[in-house]
Amino acid sequence: MRQIILLIFVFFASQWLFKKLKRAQAAAGGAQAGAGGNGAGNGTGSARASRGPSASSAPQLPDALVRCAECGVHTPSSDAVVAAGHRFCSVGHAQRHAARPTGRDAR
Ligand SMILES: [Zn+2]
Repeated sequence: MRQIILLIFVFFASQWLFKKLKRAQAAAGGAQAGAGGNGAGNGTGSARASRGPSASSAPQLPDALVRCAECGVHTPSSDAVVAAGHRFCSVGHAQRHAARPTGRDAR
């Protein structure tokens, strides 16, 4: 009976240790990310650092993906070409879609 209690104690102790280790790792990672965020003047380093937090924390993305009406490829709205109320991945697809108003054979 005493062994079972010991086992439970070891189990909780290992869990506590694991949690502590994880927290230490998270703190180290956060400190690194914070340092990168503070020096957000440089282009090469901040590009990767700012991409992760913004993608995970921001509920609404600044660059929403839009679907190309011609080929169905998802493109960031900043890169998308808007023509005749439809969004396209490229100017070529916009022209192709405009030349064929029905656009049925894409599917
Ligand atoms: Zn397209």
